[in-house]
Amino acid sequence: MVNQIFGMFSKDLGIDLGTANTLVYVKEKGIVINEPSVVAINTRNDNIVAVGEDARIMLGKTPPHITAIRPLVDGIISDFEATERMLRYFIDKVHQDKFSFLPRPQVVLGIPLDVTEVEKKAVEDAAISAGARKVYLVEEPLAAAIGARLPINDASGSMIVDIGGGTTEIAVISLAGAVTWRSLRTAGDELINDIVQYVRDNFNVLIGERTAESIKTGIGSVYPHDEPVQIAIRGRDLMSGLPKEVMMSSEHARDAMSRTVHQIIENIKATIELTPPELVADIYERGIALSGGGALLKGLPQLINSETGIKAFVVDDPLTCVARGTGMIIENLPQYQQLIVPSTNDTHA
Ligand code: ADP
Ligand code: MG
Repeated sequence: MVNQIFGMFSKDLGIDLGTANTLVYVKEKGIVINEPSVVAINTRNDNIVAVGEDARIMLGKTPPHITAIRPLVDGIISDFEATERMLRYFIDKVHQDKFSFLPRPQVVLGIPLDVTEVEKKAVEDAAISAGARKVYLVEEPLAAAIGARLPINDASGSMIVDIGGGTTEIAVISLAGAVTWRSLRTAGDELINDIVQYVRDNFNVLIGERTAESIKTGIGSVYPHDEPVQIAIRGRDLMSGLPKEVMMSSEHARDAMSRTVHQIIENIKATIELTPPELVADIYERGIALSGGGALLKGLPQLINSETGIKAFVVDDPLTCVARGTGMIIENLPQYQQLIVPSTNDTHA
């Protein structure tokens, strides 16, 4: 009852709290915040210096009294206070736009598939103390599948692979539930580490994460394509300690990322192997949907296709897919009620 009255005025939200990026969808408006999940804090006075993109550019470049951190690791909260402060910052920002007297919002939040009760509770508590009135948790692959407009309510198999920064979520969905799934703590960040490691081992040069990421998103391709490209990269020569430039080719990048990419594909195969045959037939028909920033890795659909024999495709706007899914849920909560993960507070009430 009270909720109904509040609901008429509050700006309810869908939030994709990712390891790499946090997106906020405002009911009836769409995505209004899309920022890196980074917080910079001044440790002298405990004040927030920056959040989001402004904080990301500080990573690895701060003086001793400022720490820029990613409060989420592997899809789960590693620094509770920083997560809460980041969420509060984003929620306040949305509310500031209009009327500060708006009631606190209801929030739909995505969580990875294999979180523990403790991890789940941490997400709920962080959202509540950041200003949410009520939190509805939904499994991320389901939110991604909704955002990708897959027919998740049908008695028919849809397969979605969401590759984020810290986690890869692989799920086969039928009748609005995950039938078979795997959740890996290996995703886009690992590919960045792979590239740093490769350049160190093969060129004796230490490069930064930003450089490694630009190699991944620039010349990186996981499927051999016709025209190899190369770029000059700069790092520190491990022998002399001085700056050095080396040429990195798309083959080098493919080599570097090969092990991790194959690990993801092996897990896709293993998930298919456990899936009931009727659903496998549906997946064969429909293809494997790829979402998350990792879906943008060049050549990935082709490689998955050649390794599994099933076609794979990148969903529209893969980076916003989960956020749009949580948005569709907040726009129409009654219709999606059966998808909501029971609250940890309900079960212990
Ligand atoms: P999360 O849900 O964990 O916040 P995202 O879905 O936002 O993650 O994806 C972030 C990841 O996607 C990062 O590891 C980033 O390097 C990677 N990424 C973004 N764009 C590309 C691209 N064009 N090619 C390959 N990887 C990309
Ligand atoms: Mg994500």
